[in-house]
Amino acid sequence: MKQSGFNPFKMAQQQFDKIADKLELDEGARDLLRNPLREFHFSIPVKMDDGHTKIFQGFRVQHNDALGPSKGGIRFHPQETIDTVRALAMWMTWKCAVADIPLGGGKGGIICDPHDLSEDEQEQLCRGWARQIGRNIGPVKDVPAPDVMTNAQHMIWIMDEYEQLNAGHYPGTITGKPVDLGGSLGRTEATGYGLIYILREALKEMDVDITKTKASIQGFGNVARYAAELYIEYGGTVVSVSSWDQSEGKAFSFYREKGIDLQELLQITDRFGSIDKSEAKKLGYTVEPGDAWLTHDVDILIPAALENSITKDNADSIKKKVKIIACGANGPITPEADEILDKRGVIVLPDFLANAGGVVCSYFEQVQSNQNYYWTKEEVLGKLDNKLTDAFYKVWELSKNKNITVRDAAYMIAISRVVDACTLRGWI
Ligand code: NAD
Repeated sequence: MKQSGFNPFKMAQQQFDKIADKLELDEGARDLLRNPLREFHFSIPVKMDDGHTKIFQGFRVQHNDALGPSKGGIRFHPQETIDTVRALAMWMTWKCAVADIPLGGGKGGIICDPHDLSEDEQEQLCRGWARQIGRNIGPVKDVPAPDVMTNAQHMIWIMDEYEQLNAGHYPGTITGKPVDLGGSLGRTEATGYGLIYILREALKEMDVDITKTKASIQGFGNVARYAAELYIEYGGTVVSVSSWDQSEGKAFSFYREKGIDLQELLQITDRFGSIDKSEAKKLGYTVEPGDAWLTHDVDILIPAALENSITKDNADSIKKKVKIIACGANGPITPEADEILDKRGVIVLPDFLANAGGVVCSYFEQVQSNQNYYWTKEEVLGKLDNKLTDAFYKVWELSKNKNITVRDAAYMIAISRVVDACTLRGWI
């Protein structure tokens, strides 16, 4: 999305360059990996409800597919830019690689605001997108998924159009499908649970007993609530969560010393993840300003709402007791804040490792769809736990052996895996 003066693709390239220096990559490897392998730009004509034809601009970027078919969401946004899509596609390459799943990185989008489009117009847009990119996506090429302002219904329209074009059933073309039509059990829980599997192992390594810890969470949506659920099941205490209040146009934190009761809070939360303030007060929660979640005397912080929530301006309000920050949201800590936290000795579990549960489960969905045989929820979550625990230990050991941050170790593993795949294929 457009943000004045900020170019996410430049930032993604800078992050890559820093690790490329550490890995002493040669020029060919750098040139290949700091740019997308392929990108598609196309026009999608839609016959609008009032009879006129409107042309929408669509994109798909396949950053690198040396490890396997590209994987990544499709965003609908009025301010979508090709550089945002490029950056997100590159980050998907590293996320799949660090999780050690045989997929590459992709991302797509359409410049549009679905709030202004009827159901019929949205369906035409999805089908038009599939017709334009149809020959370049598919189970063995590139597997899209829902992202900002796209959902399971959009995915089904895209899948159906792809299947019409290819005259067959190809549910592995897309993930994020409803469970009744090829989706995976466990996907709803996957990102939040995945974060806690990784946090559980990190605490073990730090010799911290999870049952004696307290946590504060930003957000109360999909990632936050499933992270809270499993963390509480493991014996931890969540003392604060926060959410956006649409009517007041600002966020609030909800604090309770003895810990939150998840089910009780869910009953007073709307479908957008906003908690009702007056009901929360009646249940004994203190309603605080939006930033207060960051300032509590806890061991663990879990930013699970949005990007740029921990910055150089508020990092100092984090209490000394905080030992670890597990990033559920994408990009919740700015690079300057990261440096401050590193100097203070706070362990940061970076987003592309800590929230990889979602993409790993999407990979499981694709595997199940391709074989047309579906696993139980226990099977899915068990495999997810194993995969993420393995990924965590590889990163943790490198970070200890080389005395580098967990983020740098995760990047080094991810980039090395992609470089090795490109080298084996003879691309570089
Ligand atoms: P969601 O829409 O379900 O929930 C977002 C929550 O954040 C809501 O409770 C909302 O009220 C709250 N919120 C919004 N602005 C806030 C603010 N300023 N302060 C406090 N709370 C605020 O979203 P989600 O699926 O839980 O995703 C959260 C983050 O995790 C996003 O950055 C998303 O990109 C990332 N993520 C999600 C997944 C996934 O599988 N859902 C996977 C990887 C990364």
